[in-house]
Amino acid sequence: MLNSPPPSRPTLSARDLAVVWHPCTQMRDHEFVPMIAIERAEGAWLHADDGSRYLDVVSSWWTNVFGHRHPRIVAGLKDQLDRLDHVMLAGMTHEPAVALAEELVRVSPPGLSRVFYADNGSSAVEAALKMSFHYWRNEGQPGRKRFIALAGGYHGETIGALSVTDVELYRNTYAPLLFEPVLAPSPDAYFREPGESAEQHAEAALVGMRRLLEKHAHEVAAIIIEPLVQCAAGMRMHAPDYVVGLRALCDEFDVHLIADEIAVGFGRTGTMFACGQASITPDFMCLSKGLTGGTLPLSAVLTTERVHEAFYAEYAEGKAFLHSHSYTGNALACRAALETLGIFRDEPVLERNRLLATRLRERLAGLADHPNVADVRQTGMIAAVELVNDKTTREPFPASERRGLRVYLHGLERGMILRPLGNVVYFMPPYCITNEEIDLMVDVAIEGIERAVR
Ligand code: PMP
Repeated sequence: MLNSPPPSRPTLSARDLAVVWHPCTQMRDHEFVPMIAIERAEGAWLHADDGSRYLDVVSSWWTNVFGHRHPRIVAGLKDQLDRLDHVMLAGMTHEPAVALAEELVRVSPPGLSRVFYADNGSSAVEAALKMSFHYWRNEGQPGRKRFIALAGGYHGETIGALSVTDVELYRNTYAPLLFEPVLAPSPDAYFREPGESAEQHAEAALVGMRRLLEKHAHEVAAIIIEPLVQCAAGMRMHAPDYVVGLRALCDEFDVHLIADEIAVGFGRTGTMFACGQASITPDFMCLSKGLTGGTLPLSAVLTTERVHEAFYAEYAEGKAFLHSHSYTGNALACRAALETLGIFRDEPVLERNRLLATRLRERLAGLADHPNVADVRQTGMIAAVELVNDKTTREPFPASERRGLRVYLHGLERGMILRPLGNVVYFMPPYCITNEEIDLMVDVAIEGIERAVR
């Protein structure tokens, strides 16, 4: 009898498609979009099981700041695993949670002195919204139960975070489940009038915000924003003046300011936190993503002594903040975050990023003249190219044409994870990227854009 060949083992990608339901994905797309199986990662590169490799241009959904498996973070995690894996944070504490809170307070805008942990970005936003509402309730103003959110803002996809999100793609289907925020005009500089500066556009958005506050402040707990860059909306950027003016309005109308720095924190915009460019302190600052250097899920809400005090009372008064996640303050995640902050402390990260950002700016400059590019914009280590159907009217390509997907597929062919947001091709690489890799990244993006606009 002839030997039959041994049954070939299905590939990891095939096994995946039989059982895993992927985030933010029409699963049927994988009938023609390859599922990339990543075996290992190092620095800015992801290595697939078929021997190919991909430059992680989007820092694995904006989480990875120093590259994959940074030796300092890896060593810290190994050491931590030998001591303590996880313990609930109610009634107990541990060195990484305490040391991390101390360090976060040290590096964050002055006045933020209390750290509440959660385990992902959306749950940090949920905690901040609840904490703001609860603060006013504890202060005898239970009627303050609304939030002001910006047009184009994104804060996550759980019910509360999605309620204050204004990106159609994520919100529309679930709108019947959500609460309605007061929606304020965005300072998004892409929509400035001809001849109007980004600063003037921000000023106009502040006038709109003032009108809303005059009408609604009595029922509003907080305003929530993504300072400087509305990332999920397509890396839309605004002048720091807006954040300065918004802080002043929040003070004038006695409304909290929640700064969602989940995507823009940790050096992305050129300063440690985006709020730093406006020299303001928000009442709540939400952090996640880069917090652990992109290794483990963790988030934190930083707030002020004033807020903390409003909850500090006799148990019977029922003022305690009731919000908990099982993995709150996970020891491994806190240790990874401590090492991440250690790298910021011990290495000239922001200075190095300035040079990389300059290189990126220079390499992208030529695209401004492209007939299908309406805007090339950059804030620190975030850059974006807005593709349009018509350069003069800025008419976008219809979403149904999925031009961005063509860029994505081209990137895969050329060993690169470019993952456009609709018609916006963007660059948000790990800070370990080299000048040569920046050049390659831009070259491949330009090729992809050429193919996509044809
Ligand atoms: N806020 C912002 C500004 C974000 O960019 C994100 C994630 N893209 C979130 C909140 C939600 O974070 P997570 O995906 O960890 O829930």
